Amino acid sequence: MNQKRAIIIGAGPAGLTAAYELLARTGIKPIVLEKSDCMGGISRTVDYKGNRIDIGGHRFFSKSDRVMEWWLRMLPLQASENGPAAIKYHRMERTIAPSASGPDPAAADRVMLLRSRKSRIYCLRRFFDYPISLSKDTLLKLGLRRTFKIGVSYIQSALFPLKPEETLEQFFINRFGRELFGTFFKSYTEKVWGVPCDRISAEWGAQRIKGLSVWSTLLHALRKVFKGGHGGIGQKHTQTSLIEQFLYPKFGPGQMWDEVARHIIEKGGEIRTGCRVERISTDGWQVKALEAADSTTGRTETFEGDYFFSTAPVRELMRAFDVAPPQNVLQVSDGLIYRDFITVGLLVRSLRIGDGTPRGKKLIGDNWIYIQEPDVLLGRLQIFNNWSPFMVADPATVWLGLEYFCNQSDEIWNLSDERMVALASRELSQIGIIDAAEVLDSTVLRMEKTYPAYFGTYGRFAEVRAHVDRYANLFLIGRNGMHRYNNQDHSMLTAMMAVDDIIAGVTDKTGLWEVNTELDYHEEKGKST
Ligand SMILES: Cc1cc2nc3c(=O)[nH]c(=O)nc-3n(C[C@H](O)[C@H](O)[C@H](O)COP(=O)(O)OP(=O)(O)OC[C@H]3O[C@@H](n4cnc5c(N)ncnc54)[C@H](O)[C@@H]3O)c2cc1C
Repeated sequence: MNQKRAIIIGAGPAGLTAAYELLARTGIKPIVLEKSDCMGGISRTVDYKGNRIDIGGHRFFSKSDRVMEWWLRMLPLQASENGPAAIKYHRMERTIAPSASGPDPAAADRVMLLRSRKSRIYCLRRFFDYPISLSKDTLLKLGLRRTFKIGVSYIQSALFPLKPEETLEQFFINRFGRELFGTFFKSYTEKVWGVPCDRISAEWGAQRIKGLSVWSTLLHALRKVFKGGHGGIGQKHTQTSLIEQFLYPKFGPGQMWDEVARHIIEKGGEIRTGCRVERISTDGWQVKALEAADSTTGRTETFEGDYFFSTAPVRELMRAFDVAPPQNVLQVSDGLIYRDFITVGLLVRSLRIGDGTPRGKKLIGDNWIYIQEPDVLLGRLQIFNNWSPFMVADPATVWLGLEYFCNQSDEIWNLSDERMVALASRELSQIGIIDAAEVLDSTVLRMEKTYPAYFGTYGRFAEVRAHVDRYANLFLIGRNGMHRYNNQDHSMLTAMMAVDDIIAGVTDKTGLWEVNTELDYHEEKGKST
């Protein structure tokens, strides 16, 4: 009768993980309040007439064993007789061991697939490896003149690095030289963030692209030459493998979160959809209740609890307190900036480009392609057939996701679906990838606040943190919940650690804020799993 309750804002990876962990490890009952009607937040998968589409393809990778084991308990790894496999994410790598008795994806639905990764940069109307490799092919495509300019500008940067290194532009130039930066990084990065690279903090580069430089690329090329470069996945020298693999649920990331939601309900938790949290009631430094509005009835309901978790954007959360935070704190939270995201699903019969294989007459093998072409707004292209063949209703068609990074104030955000589809089809046709007349069907998804930005007032974020951390029973977790560029695993780890803290009676939140900063640091120092 006196069961304690945790009220959780958001049914994304962080909110659902918190609910699941509470049910599995405590006697506390979780109630998840979700404003949309979907599970998974940004990691949802939308089913459009049997064609499934993500908000950006989501690879499942974590350096944390705890997260990897958690995922594979939910969706077991597909059967394979090839022995251990290396999976990679950016410059991180780990080995997993599929068993021959795992589920067969053709027969079972609850299954995590092991997929090959191929992603390239489309630039100068040509495909380049990603990350850029120093291959003969790259040099031929760049041409003698451009290659020479790249070499000279790199030497210049190596001899005279820009100091102090404060902006992302300086970060790139110091590692690659101005010419290489302009060719391969500038346009795509500026599309993602909507501001010039000289207005983005170098911290972003340090967090996301650390370890990548002309030297690491050169070393990689040399290693390939000396080791032969054909150690396939599961073979001894997986570090040198050319084939990268990753984990992906049979029906996309949303399948993972639907599965977790099912377990939560089965174990006695509650998930309310169409339920937007608008107000936080407090008593001193304790949160007492959340007020949420039902999107169908418009009625407001109060949810009292003992613990509270928030994955809502910090900017909105800080405005929801009954007792307004101090002026300086509001100034920082109001000034936080987000980047929004549109993805256009286009179903086509075939592409105008192929990769020389029999299937490649109409379909290339890439999972996604970075579009580094400044004459189009398109930022990235997903080919969902290659994420999982089960994402596509008719295997004779190609199911594409065209990604546009934007702000809600941009014209593009407010285009009608019809005009957005016309723009997307025209752009993809303009850069030579499809024939616009070939589009069979389409859908448009808009997702706000997909990228919490490390500019705006972010430099003063510690002021927000110091204020909210004083509410002992309130836990800010996840990506927008902490205004951190967190992937699913980091978002989940913050949820798991918040539950650890509740169990251990720890009220100091320092450990939570160190996820995705200290963790990476320690793992780089040699503790990697
Ligand atoms: C393009 C793109 C590609 C990505 N690729 C990868 C990848 O390959 N691998 C990976 O691991 N991660 C990837 N990520 C990151 C991943 O999407 C996030 O880390 C993860 O979804 C964050 O989980 P979360 O629960 O913190 O937040 P969210 O996913 O944002 O979920 C928050 C939930 O809270 C709800 N909510 C917000 N405010 C309220 C409110 N007031 N009341 C009620 N509900 C509310 C929202 O509707 C949402 O459902 C990618 C992200 C993007 C944008």
